[in-house]
Amino acid sequence: MTRPTHGQHTAIVTGAARGIGAAVARRLAHDGLAVGVIDLNEADCVGTVEAIASNGGSATAVPADVSDETAVTAAVARIAAELGPPTVLVNNAGIGPRAELVEMSTQQWDMVTGVNLRGPFLLTRAVCPHMIAAGWGRIVNMSSISAVGDAARVDYGSAKAGLIGFTKSLALQLGRHGITANAIAPGFVVSDMTRASARRLGLDFEEYRRNAANSIPVGRVGEPEDIAHTASFLVSPEAGFVSGQIIYVAGGPMDRG
Ligand code: NAD
Repeated sequence: MTRPTHGQHTAIVTGAARGIGAAVARRLAHDGLAVGVIDLNEADCVGTVEAIASNGGSATAVPADVSDETAVTAAVARIAAELGPPTVLVNNAGIGPRAELVEMSTQQWDMVTGVNLRGPFLLTRAVCPHMIAAGWGRIVNMSSISAVGDAARVDYGSAKAGLIGFTKSLALQLGRHGITANAIAPGFVVSDMTRASARRLGLDFEEYRRNAANSIPVGRVGEPEDIAHTASFLVSPEAGFVSGQIIYVAGGPMDRG
């Protein structure tokens, strides 16, 4: 039997200028998808788009703040017009600043939940009609191990837990249209986000990374490509019977018993 391929499908990956999102975008392009690369600034997406193009893939950069309804609507319309109707969506854009609860401004709460939870809602609502029309779709939401609790970031932990409820609800509501929805919950992954955490804690990144690796069962931290491999499977034609699942990609189980 020949392996089913993506054919002419189009994917949207948010927060794909760098880090995990960039790795996911490159991997999905390698898998044969045209990729709409969304991030805050178009210029920041050049590296991702050029890497895809130099491997013979097809990508376009579209600037949008995922928490801005008007910008999201325009970005999805532009990607549909330039690359074809999107049937794969990876809601990856995220921010995770630290603040003690008692010092956390309402603006920070709104911003963190806005990017991490409202953003995926806006994107999914805008992309879903294309998936329903195609009778096929794949949604992957980037949650986090912080969904089970994050002592340093109650806003981030709440948004990432909310994404799990969102994912399961999407799976229940959209399955009859041939659409699956799953979440990836990464553990420690090398990126600007974890580099910023080390800086805020006043730690050298290599030391921070070594300490993290010591508490991870497989003895290392994650790389963006670890997440990209998992996303590649979840959006593949072969993953059509996997839906409503939370895949912890964290080098070990969350429940240590
Ligand atoms: P990163 O900071 O390296 O990249 C995040 C990207 O999202 C950046 O390109 C940024 O410009 C973009 N972005 C931020 N706000 C945006 C907005 N409003 N609209 C559009 N784009 C926006 O972070 P990363 O480590 O690659 O994280 C990617 C995702 O994985 C995030 O959702 C994050 O919460 C999640 N995650 C990361 C880790 C980790 O250890 N790195 C662990 C668990 C979950």
